[in-house]
Amino acid sequence: MLHGLRDGLNRAVEYLRVSVTDRCNLRCRYCMPPEGLPAKSHADILRYEEIARVVRAIVPLGLTRVRLTGGEPLVRPGLPALVRMLCAVRGVSDIALTTNGQLLARYAAELRDAGLQRVNVSLDTLRPERYREITLGGEIEPVFEGLAAARAQGFAPIKLNAVLIRGLNEDEAVEFARLTLEEPYDVRFIEFMPMGDVGLWSPQAVVSEAEARAAVERLGPLQPAPTPATSRGGEAWRLPGARGTIAFISPVSHPFCGRCNRLRLTADGKLRPCLLSERAVDLRAVLRSGACDSYVRAAFAEAALGKPEGHHLTEGATCPTSTPMAAIGG
Ligand code: SAM
Ligand code: SF4
Repeated sequence: MLHGLRDGLNRAVEYLRVSVTDRCNLRCRYCMPPEGLPAKSHADILRYEEIARVVRAIVPLGLTRVRLTGGEPLVRPGLPALVRMLCAVRGVSDIALTTNGQLLARYAAELRDAGLQRVNVSLDTLRPERYREITLGGEIEPVFEGLAAARAQGFAPIKLNAVLIRGLNEDEAVEFARLTLEEPYDVRFIEFMPMGDVGLWSPQAVVSEAEARAAVERLGPLQPAPTPATSRGGEAWRLPGARGTIAFISPVSHPFCGRCNRLRLTADGKLRPCLLSERAVDLRAVLRSGACDSYVRAAFAEAALGKPEGHHLTEGATCPTSTPMAAIGG
């Protein structure tokens, strides 16, 4: 008899974030080194069939949610085919995608057709010049086109992820909030985390939830909005009369480790119990050893038991992991 997957602290693990590639078509200054990450060979990267097998194997352990991320997931050819495979897995009730939106206009229809229902688009500024500055040369217009395509295809909700960084874009919190008055986007302000050695992070660079909230409330009081079951990071709020919502994902000022229900699978098949720890189980070795699914499940049980109680971001200014977000899957 299979039991739900639980970690050593009895937290249920029901959510898997899958990085399908660590390549990216942008170089966000807070995420990637300007030269990009060392390229992995195709043979090192899990095939779509392998990812789908993993998901099928662990549904009996209680997995219900999968998020595809990266690097930039849409730079990997044929992503809709993976979405289709995952949507066919019974028991997975929620499949989502996190993308920088650059290629979303091109793929929105195919993704929708493959069964994807919702999408998170990362956008840290609404200004073209600043977008170029943050992403080291990216153009913002394709993201707006991607958002329009996502709306035309009926994706809902459409969440906008904005990392606020002092001296870079913190003055735009209020602009993003204003956007929710007019458009049905769910804006999430994410606190800047020290990931990898990209040289931008310092405790002073973090714009806390309290600061972001104060900026937003210049437009009016935030009222609680119904929080979707799929939202674990933070409650949703709404400005009076707004079409969209606002949430604060605050791993630095309000760690949510106690509610953490996720494991992460890297593009090269490492199963990571925690974003902010270097610990990993080599799932690719299991998959390619010819082992049956019970060994895949055993690898998940091992990773779940390796989940730390919490991270210690608030206790020091050092970077807890040398691995950039793009290599793990944000
Ligand atoms: N390329 C896709 C994108 O940008 O949406 C998916 C991968 S990206 C690593 C996933 C999310 O991680 C993005 O929303 C990005 O803003 C966020 N992220 C990257 N580095 C971060 C950091 N140091 N602190 C907080 N969020 C970060
Ligand atoms: Fe690429 Fe996303 Fe990292 Fe930006 S945040 S560099 S788009 S992986």
